[in-house]
Amino acid sequence: MPADFRHEQEEPGDGLRPHLWQGRRLVLLDRDGTLNVERHYLAEASQLELLPGVIPALRRLREHGLGLVVVTNQSGVARGLIQPAQLTAIHERLHELLGEGGIELDGIYVCPHGAQSVCHCRKPRAGMALQAARELGGILSESFVVGDKPADIGLGQAIEATTLLVRTGHGAESERNWPRELPRPHVIVNDLPAAADFIVRQLADRDRARPWAV
Ligand SMILES: [Mg+2]
Ligand SMILES: [Zn+2]
Repeated sequence: MPADFRHEQEEPGDGLRPHLWQGRRLVLLDRDGTLNVERHYLAEASQLELLPGVIPALRRLREHGLGLVVVTNQSGVARGLIQPAQLTAIHERLHELLGEGGIELDGIYVCPHGAQSVCHCRKPRAGMALQAARELGGILSESFVVGDKPADIGLGQAIEATTLLVRTGHGAESERNWPRELPRPHVIVNDLPAAADFIVRQLADRDRARPWAV
């Protein structure tokens, strides 16, 4: 484990483990096929197109106090199909499109490594989520992971978050051909707006179940 991830499991030391209840809940969002229309190795910012209903869905999550974090595998960078400057431009455009809808992301985390890499950040590995939690003060087990591929759900399972598969992008295909060795997501929903509905209901249920934690 890299040195900078060493502190994730530390206890505060007073025996109350308040970190279980304090800190922000995050929604860790996949990018391609979840927020924006899936394109094979999206490399041009002009090709970035948000899926229907994404802005109001994110606004709703934000209104419920959730941190919004994008975690994206971009192996096209390692393969030379996407230049780092293009990726920067795509994410500037993403900030711009969301900003027009009044949405500010808390962060965008990228794994630029190839599928064969042994990096700690490529989903389903947990590196990007651990980094986001550390930088943003998030509580991963109280968080949600939304994506259209088994790797997204695998990440969510690795951090013991609540996992949601959307049917947009590759999601419908992922649902049909779910890998036998991987547990299924907690819920499968049509799209991000439906994911937001589910998350908001979950938050209400949790807060009813433990009023002391609010
Ligand atoms: Mg995706
Ligand atoms: Zn990586």
